[in-house]
Amino acid sequence: MQGESSTARDYREIVGAIHIHSKYSDGTKSIEDIARIAGEVGLDFLMVSDHMTLEPLHRGLEGFYGKTAVLIGYEVNDPDDKNHYLVFDVNEVLPSGIKANEYVKLIKEKGGLGIIAHPDEIRTRLVKYPSYPWTDWHVDGYDGIEIWNHMSEWMESLSRWNMLKMAVSPRRVLKSPTGRILQIWDEVNQRRKVVGVGSIDVHAYPYRLGPLRITIFPYKVQFKAIRTHLLLTEPASGDFNALKKAIYRSLRGKNNP
Ligand SMILES: [Zn+2]
Ligand SMILES: [Zn+2]
Repeated sequence: MQGESSTARDYREIVGAIHIHSKYSDGTKSIEDIARIAGEVGLDFLMVSDHMTLEPLHRGLEGFYGKTAVLIGYEVNDPDDKNHYLVFDVNEVLPSGIKANEYVKLIKEKGGLGIIAHPDEIRTRLVKYPSYPWTDWHVDGYDGIEIWNHMSEWMESLSRWNMLKMAVSPRRVLKSPTGRILQIWDEVNQRRKVVGVGSIDVHAYPYRLGPLRITIFPYKVQFKAIRTHLLLTEPASGDFNALKKAIYRSLRGKNNP
């Protein structure tokens, strides 16, 4: 029936990378440089989420860089540095020290988009970088879950013996989301539809491995790793705000038939 449902023909596919850290927190490059690198590998959009800051948004750095749209949110954590949560479509950072169940609720009330970050990660190898799993599954009101996070998979696969290989070829480890998170995602979806996204959690850390100075997870390598493809119902217009709205709408699962 006309106008009642969308068909595959109505969709426009765009490809982007989610969960990016810049020099505004513990990443290593400027938004401009990161966007340029994304453009070189043909990404349509980037979603930047620095820890507890929207400074790049307030500096007016959101927008198109060539053909790549850069959207800026932030990453929040609870007082124990667990329960990391990617927050978009907001203009203010919540005060620190709030518990997960409260900030999930507050972000929803403010009309923000929230994605549970690296929910099931296990890190045993690098003492300096402990794991930050999601622990409060009683919360409700989030829009999405990172069902595949490159940093988590990389950290879980890391052993004393493969460290050099893993550092040099960080994409080789990628296999799939874990069975653990897929089970949680399935359970949540029995109750309500929750979007699953793939994220890269890129920082491009400089790291010293014996005599070698290497960059763990360079932006360009990560941008060719886990990408999220969105199907938009809105036609391309070249208008940044329209595209941003369409991306957030899709990530909220509103484009699902
Ligand atoms: Zn995190
Ligand atoms: Zn992060």
